[in-house]
Amino acid sequence: MNGATHLATGILLSAAITTSPIGIAVGSLAALLPDIDEPNSMLSRKIPIIPYIIGFFGHRQLTHSLLGAFLFSIPIFIWLPEYLIIFITGYLSHLLLDTMTNMGTPWLFPVGRSFSLKLGVSGGWLEGIYIVCLFVIGSLWGQELFSVHIEAIKGWFLELQYFRFLF
Ligand SMILES: [Zn+2]
Repeated sequence: MNGATHLATGILLSAAITTSPIGIAVGSLAALLPDIDEPNSMLSRKIPIIPYIIGFFGHRQLTHSLLGAFLFSIPIFIWLPEYLIIFITGYLSHLLLDTMTNMGTPWLFPVGRSFSLKLGVSGGWLEGIYIVCLFVIGSLWGQELFSVHIEAIKGWFLELQYFRFLF
């Protein structure tokens, strides 16, 4: 699946779980994280050295497994424990989506093979239909999911105006 598809899924899932903007950021980044081993992924293009370090195990291997999810969860557990659930949710959403594609996901790496529902290739019709579903969900519940955040942003602007009045 494309980075944009994973990102959109991460944002919607996170917004359904938490009202915290940091939580949504953590969940959305977690949904992109497994592809950090691919040199062309959304995150790797920002930090090009990482795919060469993690890619040592091969692409779509360690980062696309439960072991990878566990290893990446350790720093979150230590430094951002309140976002652990949302991090794992975002991360596993990536593995589930990739399981639908023909390439599959090696959930049990380093043992076993890749599991795949063989529904199509990345970027194919399956992904197109999925994006349409996300769009429908987003437009039906987006207002509700993000209303708390919209209120928070309105609050910040009101505060800014208040400070402008002070000075
Ligand atoms: Zn992936």
